[in-house]
Amino acid sequence: MSTTEEAFLVGLVGDGVLPSLSPALHEREADAVGLRYLYRPLDLPTMGRRPDEVGAILREGAALGYNAFNITYPCKQLVLDALDEVDEDAARLDAVNTVLVRDGRLVGRNTDWTGFAAGLASGLPEADLAHVVLVGSGGAGSAVAYALLAAGASRLDVVDLDAGRAEARAASLAALFPAATVGAGGIDLLPALLAAATGLVHATPVGMHHHPGLPVDRALLRPGLWVADIVYRPVRTQLVAAAEDLGCPVLDGGHMAVGQAVDSFRLITGVEPDRDRMRAHFLQLVAAGR
Ligand code: NAD
Repeated sequence: MSTTEEAFLVGLVGDGVLPSLSPALHEREADAVGLRYLYRPLDLPTMGRRPDEVGAILREGAALGYNAFNITYPCKQLVLDALDEVDEDAARLDAVNTVLVRDGRLVGRNTDWTGFAAGLASGLPEADLAHVVLVGSGGAGSAVAYALLAAGASRLDVVDLDAGRAEARAASLAALFPAATVGAGGIDLLPALLAAATGLVHATPVGMHHHPGLPVDRALLRPGLWVADIVYRPVRTQLVAAAEDLGCPVLDGGHMAVGQAVDSFRLITGVEPDRDRMRAHFLQLVAAGR
């Protein structure tokens, strides 16, 4: 039986996943390419399960016929111990967001970093990676940093309200990418860093609907600096709007969100999804307040 004749059952494991756009995004694309595909949120609090039970949940799901899982907060690292195999990048990143059930074995991958990398390549193909400043060194920021360095950034500076966190991330990234220069510190470094940078990536919650604002002083933006946001609710964040007004090349957060869904869908089904169609659907869902 070829992949396209199978029916796919996929679960999203995490805390607070019921409002996720992923089920609609995956299922509509599967309809469009002619696959039978169900994508179910498996919400830990709703199931009365703890995050550290993620491994048991995956084993139970695999036994019940699930083909794959997406893994989100707070399980992307906890899941690692439960896997039979992890690809090299996910192991280096120390985070997994996609688990494939292959002959009863649990195989971990990470499409957060590939999703950002693909979004950057398709949405900002001319982006100069000579000196990139990344604001935010949490889970998403780490995936973005990995993508930037894997894409050939020669210098990356990571800043965070928590300077110690940024420094720890930068130290592990520098060990993984010895050819690059990786710096870190607090947000007080932003004026000096942005004066010399070629690009800015934002990866903190600032700018989300419930956390509005600009993560970087508007006066630090200038035409010529490319600006990428990973916040996607709303898609046009205050940062994206401010950068667009200045004429900066801009990448909105929908590119990473769609990029990771595209890469997960391809891994799960073996079928190439249509990135533009998934982005159009994603924008519809966000505009409808989903
Ligand atoms: P996280 O909580 O793990 O990390 C956020 C980091 O931002 C923390 O280190 C925190 O100290 C830092 N921070 C907070 N406010 C700051 C500020 N004003 N200046 C500098 N640093 C600040 O969160 P995360 O999982 O990394 O997610 C961050 C955001 O990224 C989310 O809120 C979400 O909007 C977005 N996100 C987007 C995608 C996507 O696919 N586009 C995927 C995941 C997350």
